[in-house]
Amino acid sequence: MDTDEVGGFAGGDTAAVALYNPFTGKLIETGVDNPVPAAAALGLEPPRFCEQCGRRMVVQVSPDGWWAKCSRHGVLDSTSLEHR
Ligand SMILES: [Zn+2]
Repeated sequence: MDTDEVGGFAGGDTAAVALYNPFTGKLIETGVDNPVPAAAALGLEPPRFCEQCGRRMVVQVSPDGWWAKCSRHGVLDSTSLEHR
């Protein structure tokens, strides 16, 4: 079988669009200011909320960076946000 982790999302071309502010958990609305804390903008602060569903994520900070886990969308980690 050739399945990947995209399943469950209707209309695959928008899968990467953030719907929620990962630091405040607020729904991102077009034309509304979406502030990001200064430390977060520098990549020092891990996101606390899932961008896709707004759930609070389990966040673990490590010497190498951080990871954050959404119970629905899986793990996001600091290395995955840097250049691949
Ligand atoms: Zn999620």
